[in-house]
Amino acid sequence: MASVVIVGGGLAGLSAAARLAKHGLRVTVLERGALGGRAVTLRIKGFAFNFGAHAIYGRDRSVLTTLERELGLSIDWRDFSPERAKYDVGDKLTDLPANIRGLFKTKLLTYPDKVKFAFEVLKTLLGVETGHPHLSIGRWMDEKQLDPDVKDMMLTLASSNFFTREPEKIPSDVFFRYYKTIFSTRKPVTYIGGGWQALIDELVRVIKAHGGTIHTKAKVERVTVEDNRVRAVHTADETYTADLFLFCIPPKELVSIFQGTHIEHFVAQYAQYHPTYALVYDVGLRERIDVPYTYIYDKAHKCFITDISYYDETSVPEGGQLLQAILYLSREDVGNKERIEAYKKTVEDLYDKHFPGWRERLVVPRFSPRAVVQEIKWTMDQQPMPVFFPDYRNLYFAGDWCEGKGQLSELSFSSAYAASELILAH
Ligand SMILES: Cc1cc2nc3c(=O)[nH]c(=O)nc-3n(C[C@H](O)[C@H](O)[C@H](O)COP(=O)(O)OP(=O)(O)OC[C@H]3O[C@@H](n4cnc5c(N)ncnc54)[C@H](O)[C@@H]3O)c2cc1C
Repeated sequence: MASVVIVGGGLAGLSAAARLAKHGLRVTVLERGALGGRAVTLRIKGFAFNFGAHAIYGRDRSVLTTLERELGLSIDWRDFSPERAKYDVGDKLTDLPANIRGLFKTKLLTYPDKVKFAFEVLKTLLGVETGHPHLSIGRWMDEKQLDPDVKDMMLTLASSNFFTREPEKIPSDVFFRYYKTIFSTRKPVTYIGGGWQALIDELVRVIKAHGGTIHTKAKVERVTVEDNRVRAVHTADETYTADLFLFCIPPKELVSIFQGTHIEHFVAQYAQYHPTYALVYDVGLRERIDVPYTYIYDKAHKCFITDISYYDETSVPEGGQLLQAILYLSREDVGNKERIEAYKKTVEDLYDKHFPGWRERLVVPRFSPRAVVQEIKWTMDQQPMPVFFPDYRNLYFAGDWCEGKGQLSELSFSSAYAASELILAH
């Protein structure tokens, strides 16, 4: 039986470990902290704060659904209600065009523009539009002389799916590949009952049921490399040998672990790229504030609020409410104290506007001025990392910084799936 060491116990590491263990490999997972990585859930005063949101986009077309089927995972899917999702366009709320009904109800577009937008959707679905890797979506739209309102609508959608303030910088081929899947889904957004923690527990269950071993508080510090193969990884006090190695840790961490080997040079380029950042401001409330929406996207401020507890009542103490606000940050915003303070105030103003009375009901806030949503942001000047460099025969990579399908956690799942396929074929 071949053995594999997996470094990193986030969504990518755990899903690859579960799949490899199920296929009969001897699996050992090494995680420096607690399991979950950026998909960690913290319970404070009875409220379950997911560090990142756990909205799964297009779940019927996702790799997570393939994993669910293959591994026999039990996932309590909670589908998003498109009719309770609104855009805040300053002076009014309007329907979010999450499906064709929403598109025809939204006041964001005039009727002729809705038809034009639907035509663009159809062309994307049929693969007539595929974009070009050398053209950003902003440039592509200008060259095609797209109607300004249709352009604005498409960029607004991209802003919320890619968690970005600069949707026009997305490479056009990436844009069309993404929306070909998203426009054809019957499940645009779904949450997981019990949050990320429920999924992590399920993956751990599968790993253990198939004889896998998991070590937490096991930080890998260096590797032994001989003849273009990794022979062992070392923590401060243990050495782990195996036939194959899968690293599910970000490029910056890889550079330090692989110092002095060829791999250091391969990964150095990816370690310099910028992540997708967001500001996260969650509030746990004693008592629900009943409003006719569960999701509001504020177009001007590039910020959205989700009523997490509407989709997952296990995230709150009885009668409580958990709201999550996420505001997209640009590279320049990160570390700029004044801007972050101003954004915090923006979020509070949005809570005042859409959930009046939240301040009096507040039990516990959770504020994060700089959350890494995706380790490498896909723009014209940044690329995802391969899952395999042919120079090293027994070394693989996975994570949301790697090549794969979709964005965010779907990149973690799809790169983990691709890397585990290569390992199984090895
Ligand atoms: C605010 C926010 C909102 C988000 N919203 C969504 C959303 O709505 N939908 C969605 O799909 N995704 C969302 N995401 C993204 C999602 O959380 C990530 O894509 C996913 O969790 C990344 O998992 P990963 O395993 O690829 O990487 P990570 O979670 O970064 O895992 C890497 C793991 O490696 C460990 N590690 C690092 N170095 C070492 C070492 N030397 N030795 C041992 N272990 C090590 C780390 O501790 C970590 O556990 C969001 C993220 C954030 C922050």
